[in-house]
Amino acid sequence: MNHDPKHILIIGGGYVGLYTALRLQRRLRGSLRNGSVRITLVDPQSYMTYQPFLPEAAAGNLSPRHVVAPLRRVLPKVRIVNGRITKLNHDGRTATFEPNEGAAREIGYDIVVMAAGSISRTLPIPGLTDIGIGFKTIGEAIGLRNRVLSQLDVAESTEDEEIRRKALTFVVVGAGFAGVEALAELEDMAKDSTRYYRNIAPEDLRWVLVEATDRVLPEVGPEMGRWTLGELRGRGIDVRLGTRLESCVNGHVVLSDGDTFEADTLVWTAGVKPSPVINATDLPVDERGRVKATTRLTVAGHPDAFTAGDIAGVPDVTNPGQYCAPNAQHAVRQAKVLADNIVRRLRGEELLEYRHKYVGSVAGLGLHEGVANVYGIKLRGLPAWFMHRTYHLSRVPTLNRKVRVVVEWTLALFFKRETISLGEIHRPRDEFRAAVAADRRR
Ligand SMILES: Cc1cc2nc3c(=O)[nH]c(=O)nc-3n(C[C@H](O)[C@H](O)[C@H](O)COP(=O)(O)OP(=O)(O)OC[C@H]3O[C@@H](n4cnc5c(N)ncnc54)[C@H](O)[C@@H]3O)c2cc1C
Repeated sequence: MNHDPKHILIIGGGYVGLYTALRLQRRLRGSLRNGSVRITLVDPQSYMTYQPFLPEAAAGNLSPRHVVAPLRRVLPKVRIVNGRITKLNHDGRTATFEPNEGAAREIGYDIVVMAAGSISRTLPIPGLTDIGIGFKTIGEAIGLRNRVLSQLDVAESTEDEEIRRKALTFVVVGAGFAGVEALAELEDMAKDSTRYYRNIAPEDLRWVLVEATDRVLPEVGPEMGRWTLGELRGRGIDVRLGTRLESCVNGHVVLSDGDTFEADTLVWTAGVKPSPVINATDLPVDERGRVKATTRLTVAGHPDAFTAGDIAGVPDVTNPGQYCAPNAQHAVRQAKVLADNIVRRLRGEELLEYRHKYVGSVAGLGLHEGVANVYGIKLRGLPAWFMHRTYHLSRVPTLNRKVRVVVEWTLALFFKRETISLGEIHRPRDEFRAAVAADRRR
C-alpha cells in the first residue's frame, strides 16, 4: 500500500455511510492504527436511522432509541463530525463543512464517498408546507405518533363536531413503502387506542390514502399489491387510486377526484429525490439529478470519488438499461462493494462490479399483518409479518440493537402497547415560558 497518509471523507452516515465506514474500519484496521489512513464521516445527526423500523417506532412497538445506531459507538476508529457538507470541490479535493454550531471550514481529502441519500420529493401544492409532514426521520415518525394520539385527545375533549371530525381525519399521500407502512401501523395503533376513549369508536377514525398511480406498494409486485389494496380497504381505509392532492390550505383538503374534506394531519410520502448537496458539487449528475455512478460505484470520470444509495444513479447490471432502485436492499450491498473498492483503490488493484438482482420486498401492515414477495415466494398476513420482523431484525446494525429490539417485541407479547401522546416534548419550553409570563403579570 502507498505510504502517504490517505484521508477518506464519507458524506452521510445513513445506510451507505455507516456500512461503508464499518467495513473500512475492519478491513483497514492496521492502516488506521499506524496512521497511514484516516476516515472522517460527516452527518448532521450523531446516529444512523434504520428507516424500515420507523413505522414500528411511530406505532410504539419500538423505542425511538432502538431504531437508530449511535455512530461514535459503532465506529470508534472513525472521526465523526456533525454538520453538513454544503459544497464539494472535487477537483481541488476539498469539501466545505458547516458544523451544526459555528463557522464553516474546509476539509481536505484524498478519497470521497458521496452518500448523502435523499429527501422527500414535494410539489408546489397550496398549504402543503404548512400542514404536511414527511416520514423519513425518527423526529418525523415520533412527531407523527404524538400527533395522531393527541388528535384523539382533542376529539375526546371537544363538543364541536367539526373540530372532532377534522381531528379524526388523517391523510397519507403516496402509497409506496413508506406511505403504506406508516399508514397501516398508525391506523392499527390509533384503532387500538380508541379502547381508552369513552367517545371515540374505531369507526370514527377516517384514514385516507391518496395515490396518483393505479396501484399500491409496487415494491411487492402487482399480485401482492392488489392483495394489500384489498386488505387496506377491508380495514375501512379510504384508498383513492389515480388521485392527486390539489390543495390543503388550513387543512381543507381538495383532491383531484373532486372530493373535499377537512383534515388536521397530512403525511407526505410521495417519493424521494437526491439530496440537494449534489447541486453544490462539481460531480456529474444524470437526467434524474442523481450522481452519475459507474457499475464499480465510482463517480463517472472520477476514480477517487465513490457513491451509492439513494443519491446515486447506479446502473443495474442484472437489468441492462435500468438503474438500481433507491432502497436499503441495494444500499447495504453497495456499501460492502464500495468499501472493498476503496481498499482495492488504495492497493492499486482492479475494482469490483456491483451486481445484485432485486429479490423482492417485505412490508409490515400493523401488528400481525404483513405482505411479502421475496425470491418469488408470496406471503400475506401473519407469516409475512413474521418474515418482515425476522428479516429486519437480521439487518438492523449491531448485536446490541438486535437484542434490544427482540426484548421490546417480547415484552409486547405480554403487555399492551403504550398509547400515550408526549406531544409536549416538541415544545419543551412552553411550561417555563408560562411560568415567566405569570411572574411578570404579578
Ligand atoms: C419509512 C421508510 C421505510 C423504508 N423501508 C424500506 C424497506 O423496508 N426496505 C428497503 O429496502 N428500503 C426501505 N426504505 C428505503 C431505505 O431506507 C433507503 O433506500 C436507504 O436509507 C438509503 O440509504 P442511503 O445511505 O442512500 O441514505 P440514508 O440512509 O437516508 O442516509 C443519508 C444520510 O446522509 C445525511 N446527509 C444528508 N445531506 C447531508 C449533507 N449535506 N452532509 C452530510 N450528511 C448529509 C443524512 O442525514 C443521512 O443520515 C425505507 C425508507 C423509509 C423512509
